[in-house]
Amino acid sequence: MSDCIFCKIAKGQIPADKVYEDDHCVAFKDIHPKAPVHVLLIPKKHIDSLAHAGAEDRVLLGYLNLKLAEIAKGQGIGDGFKIQVHTGAKGGQEVFHLHYHILGG
Ligand code: AMP
Ligand code: ZN
Repeated sequence: MSDCIFCKIAKGQIPADKVYEDDHCVAFKDIHPKAPVHVLLIPKKHIDSLAHAGAEDRVLLGYLNLKLAEIAKGQGIGDGFKIQVHTGAKGGQEVFHLHYHILGG
């Protein structure tokens, strides 16, 4: 999606403090951290929110879940972390590209 800020981060078109990247996802530090460790994990594929994911995304969603724990470990919070997925405006979502908050520390 051309006007999506997280798509632009995924494509390297705008800068982000990336902590992990592969063919399917990117993780980067939240610009307004709410914990000592606050990283966002996004799929490179644009999906508006978790509620917009479909059956075709099941392998990707499983992959992202495994990456969440790996990234938490890499950030030094493998022994305890919190995952948040704001979904829809009523769920507090502000950026409409699926993202997982990884919080801890
Ligand atoms: P939400 O949609 O409620 O999960 O919130 C979006 C999150 O993205 C907020 O925590 C923002 O601080 C964060 N955010 C927005 N723009 C950027 C950016 N360019 N780089 C890093 N984090 C961002
Ligand atoms: Zn996007």
